[in-house]
Amino acid sequence: MRSHDTADTRFWQQLNDLNVAAKALNALPGDSCALAGPKGADDPGLGRIPAAYAYLSEHVLVHRDNVDRAIRVIRRDDASEPVHVALLPDEDRDLISVRRLFIGRRDIYHVIELLNREEDIEATPVHFISVATGNLCSADEPVPRIGPLNPPLSALPHGRGVKVVVFDTGLVDGYDRHSWLAEINGPRPIPKVDGDVLKPGAELDVDDGSILPHAGHGTFVAGVLRCVAPATTVYVSDAMKIIGAGLEDQVCLVIMRTLKAMGWPDIICLPAGTSTDHDKPLLGFSDFRRDLADHPDTLLVAAAGNDGKDEPFWPAALAESIPDMVVSVGALRADGRGRACFSNYGDWVSVYAPGERMVNAFIEGTYSYDYDARTTCRFHPHNPSYLGCPCVAPISKGEKLDLPDALAQWSGTSFATPIVTGLIAAYMTRTGKKSREAAKDLLQGRLAIPDLSGLWL
Ligand SMILES: [Zn+2]
Repeated sequence: MRSHDTADTRFWQQLNDLNVAAKALNALPGDSCALAGPKGADDPGLGRIPAAYAYLSEHVLVHRDNVDRAIRVIRRDDASEPVHVALLPDEDRDLISVRRLFIGRRDIYHVIELLNREEDIEATPVHFISVATGNLCSADEPVPRIGPLNPPLSALPHGRGVKVVVFDTGLVDGYDRHSWLAEINGPRPIPKVDGDVLKPGAELDVDDGSILPHAGHGTFVAGVLRCVAPATTVYVSDAMKIIGAGLEDQVCLVIMRTLKAMGWPDIICLPAGTSTDHDKPLLGFSDFRRDLADHPDTLLVAAAGNDGKDEPFWPAALAESIPDMVVSVGALRADGRGRACFSNYGDWVSVYAPGERMVNAFIEGTYSYDYDARTTCRFHPHNPSYLGCPCVAPISKGEKLDLPDALAQWSGTSFATPIVTGLIAAYMTRTGKKSREAAKDLLQGRLAIPDLSGLWL
């Protein structure tokens, strides 16, 4: 029997929220919806297979060169259902080389196995990428802050001359009321954080006006980054439009479009990702991975995810095969004495940084809590690895709390990611080194920042 409110039970509620939001935004093709993988995760009759990722129903992803052959194989196997390729607008066709195949009511895992096995055609589900977890939510829900900004706002113009693009949920209306996100003139001028600014009220529930799940995530991430490195030039994209999630090929398309328009920055900060079918790298990100290799001045810093497990989380797990190009970031607990309970871990995680109870820019308003109060850790309920993890919270489901001053306290590998991004940016300014070289120094422990030194594992 399921214990109450584990990482897994939260997944199903989040999946439901994702479908409600996707429907309201008309964000998915036809009658498609988000389902839970891997195979059997949605079947109570098969026993307990933990849900690990969300994917698009009725579709598989293949390389465009394999489209015709894949359609022939699928028809030969079962001609009773339609199968066709989803066409992309002309301007997008050359930006990504993967294509979605609509396969109707066929069993998606049967089709994937058929293509992989019989014809050696790579095919995968179309996974949802979400702001830092296959668990489809941040490590915890935002709460009213108790202390000051965490990390504190640096008084030095760290990051000057360094460009960072953050792919996340965009910026909330009025984000620049926070001085560290706004332009500052004077002896040490600081550029305003720029990006996709949401319409006023876009982050609020239409029924009761409360703050939507995952709203403010991109603003919070940008705030953490600018506290560590206040002079960094930052652009925040709203690539994850469906309550902090997006389909892998669509997110990759937004990334490729943005980089084509703006040029490749020094650092791409991606506080998002997903677990995948059979732990394989994301097929939808293959073009990005290839082009990253062609842009030696750009580094990807990506969140390791908040599922508290050691299975690879993508695209962060690319750090294992291309460590010079990708840094994957796990989270430390607040006292810096070990890994946070929610942080993923494993050989593919490059570095751990503070990720519990960060305090930064959010949305002014009321947050309505989705999950029950807990007295134990969600990930280690019977044998806590440490006391005081952020899972333990006295707030009850349905409770509403005001988040004053448009600030919140929040936890997740999503927020450890901009700390590492900011530290790399600061180090680049200080040394004149390029981002990949700076990251190499960081990973070898040669980076020392007074406020955060000693916290690296
Ligand atoms: Zn915990």
